Amino acid sequence: DLVPLRRALISVSDKTGLAELGRALAGRGVELLSTGGTAAALREAGLGVVDVAEVTGFPEMMDGRVKTLHPMVHGGLLALRDNPEHAKAMADHGIGAIDLLVVNLYPFEATVAKGADYETCIENIDIGGPAMIRAAAKNHAFVGVVVDTDDYAALLAELDANGGATGLAFRQKLALTAYSRTAAYDAAVSGWMAGALEETAPRRRAFAGTLAQTLRYGENPHQKAAFYTDGTGRPGVATARQWQGKELSYNNINDTDAAFELVSEFLPGGGPACAIIKHANPCGVARGASLKEAYSRAFDCDRTSAFGGIVALNMKLDEETARAIAEIFTEVVIAPGADDAAKQVFAAKKNLRLLTADGLANPAQPGLAVRQVSGGFLVQDKDNGRIGPDDLQVVTKRAPTETEIADMLFAWKVAKHVKSNAIVYVKDGATVGVGAGQMSRVDSTRIAARKSQDMAEALGLSMPPTKGSVVASDAFFPFPDGLLTAAEAGATAVIQPGGSMRDDQVIAAADEAGLAMVFTGMRHFRH
Ligand code: 5GP
Repeated sequence: DLVPLRRALISVSDKTGLAELGRALAGRGVELLSTGGTAAALREAGLGVVDVAEVTGFPEMMDGRVKTLHPMVHGGLLALRDNPEHAKAMADHGIGAIDLLVVNLYPFEATVAKGADYETCIENIDIGGPAMIRAAAKNHAFVGVVVDTDDYAALLAELDANGGATGLAFRQKLALTAYSRTAAYDAAVSGWMAGALEETAPRRRAFAGTLAQTLRYGENPHQKAAFYTDGTGRPGVATARQWQGKELSYNNINDTDAAFELVSEFLPGGGPACAIIKHANPCGVARGASLKEAYSRAFDCDRTSAFGGIVALNMKLDEETARAIAEIFTEVVIAPGADDAAKQVFAAKKNLRLLTADGLANPAQPGLAVRQVSGGFLVQDKDNGRIGPDDLQVVTKRAPTETEIADMLFAWKVAKHVKSNAIVYVKDGATVGVGAGQMSRVDSTRIAARKSQDMAEALGLSMPPTKGSVVASDAFFPFPDGLLTAAEAGATAVIQPGGSMRDDQVIAAADEAGLAMVFTGMRHFRH
């Protein structure tokens, strides 16, 4: 299954490592064919190259839309060398075998990420490149195909190990990588078009990602795992820079994403904010006069759970905040930047990973949420529903105060990021109790209140922090019991979507308990 490498076609947009590769191949006596820009670069490196135009007998035309789409190229890539009919066709038409294809595609994803206009994006859809990649990959019995500059070294090592030939196992691996690349490329085009055409319901589009990182293991050590990026380049865990600490794990990436998405709800213009995440749920979220105060107040919501948590900040990490975070064991810190002094504080903490993102995520940006079920994918618009003070409908006799309104809107933003059934108590811009992921809403209400009591005991407070708080519920209260539990815990105001068939009973109970209650008309389930 060894195929000696005699003739290679190289056509690359990203010219990284091209001269070295060309030199190494030419040094092994390989004939090089190339398209315009690639041929020019190889000649500049002093190498002899045959133009594809010479092989096809056609010039490159139509702004490069048609360069390699020709039987002289595709016959050379697709012919089965051991099939007499194929061999005769090659002989009859003077088609030479191509043993190696090196292609990287027009930078479509990067063009979209830069915010280019429609026409520019269209021109950056590579046609001839994917056609050749798919042809060579199909014919991996005879042809090697390299689509990633990172694989040049492995190719040369393979040639060294086999006296200038490639083995079948190696070509099979390359073919797999090649099809993954064309699938991701076309998925990027499909996703871009869906966005450009404002295809609001997520239909008629394909999904694929690019392998970014093989992870040590998955959610549990016996599960293999990897991280794929979608090529959009949006600020977040996929594009953040890691400054220190060991590699992120599967759970770290999941939790860091949850933390960053949540903290990004709080624009820096409204002051510093911090979110601490454990098992994809917030165990504390707060604003503060300083970033350090925001962290401390978030930490005080549930000090026990915050241990080993993921911390996300909405502003550049400074030294004093870094010092406060470093006092306990923290897995990951993510922020839109970090001072040198803050980095120095963390340098002593070898296990702490510091990530800096390029700004915050945009919670209003359209996007898709994809989840796998047996036999398929569930796809929906990202939950970027947001409300303001004008959207609140007061349904009780007592109207909420200004402070209650501010806290209710804060609690509502947090509740959106808590697994259902979600109950969030907030006081003075800080969570003071979070109930997450329970099958019954009243249980979430009780758990959050009890955690607040535990915290009061731990901190030696005379009353639980939920006293005088507001409470948010991600979906309506189906019965008055959950609301009454919140009132017992000391909540004075309630924010919830409304819409239960027993809304009048729930409103009556709120009035009787002297609560103010508003309906949002919007639900934030999260499962
Ligand atoms: P060069 O810089 O060599 O002029 O162009 C290299 C790029 O052209 C590569 O990214 C390759 O995928 C792409 N390419 C090769 N053949 C064709 C073709 O026939 N049509 C189009 N649209 N692109 C091609």
